Amino acid sequence: MVGAWCFVDHFGPDDVSDSPGMRVPPHPHTGLQTVSWLVEGAILHRDSLGSLQPITPGQLNVMTSGRGISHSEESPVPHPPVMHGLQLWVALPDSARHGAPRFDHYPDVPGFERDGARVAVVVGDLDGVRSPALACTPLVGAEIVLEPGATLRLPLAPSFEYGAVAMTGTAEVAGAELKPGVLLYLDRGRDDLTLSSVDGARLFLLGGEPFDEPLVMWWNFVGRTHEEIAEARADWEHDRVAGGDRFGTVTGYAGDPLPAPDLPTVRLKARGRDGTVRG
Ligand code: MN
Repeated sequence: MVGAWCFVDHFGPDDVSDSPGMRVPPHPHTGLQTVSWLVEGAILHRDSLGSLQPITPGQLNVMTSGRGISHSEESPVPHPPVMHGLQLWVALPDSARHGAPRFDHYPDVPGFERDGARVAVVVGDLDGVRSPALACTPLVGAEIVLEPGATLRLPLAPSFEYGAVAMTGTAEVAGAELKPGVLLYLDRGRDDLTLSSVDGARLFLLGGEPFDEPLVMWWNFVGRTHEEIAEARADWEHDRVAGGDRFGTVTGYAGDPLPAPDLPTVRLKARGRDGTVRG
């Protein structure tokens, strides 16, 4: 966990010029937000609320599952030759996780440029610039593009913990070398952060107040107990065949919804933010 950020998928850059590209059939979510951010390419989002929304670089999709939603993601036809981006999950606090699902598309996000760096404030606020994106806990997410030779100093919130991933290039962040494939974790208590790059880099900064509710994460569900996860699985297995109130139906995707995998044969246990098993 970094704040309420609970999952990072950094995909690409992949050459999809000779392939269908992304084909993720309808599948359910509960207890989380998905935050989609592209560097290159395009994705078409469909969901059980009836949303049909393309996303391209610089735009932001935030899907807030509440108690249940289903969606599909696919490359449009035709599509750009390269796919590169992030899908992040944010755990919803207990006060928001039972609510109604919603989907928000933001055609752009605010940002700033200085000292050879371009910053897009995707979620929350950074250096006085605030994203309009819906967030349910104190959180920040920002893309930072460093030109070759740039050094950027950013003010941080000392009550937040932070993480950083490199999407392209190599950077130095808080004195540590950061390359794609690594997540740098920074504990609370910092007032600022220095980022630099000799040859140029593109990074994503995550941060938030520590999220203290122990979670059970299994497949596409974020819950609190084994029973909640088992119920979500059973509800999806019903709804994907028969339609239903919880996860609804995605229309227009050329393919069947994803069946849920079998539950493990042991009880799922909640983990705290430091990985400690509870209960
Ligand atoms: Mn999904």
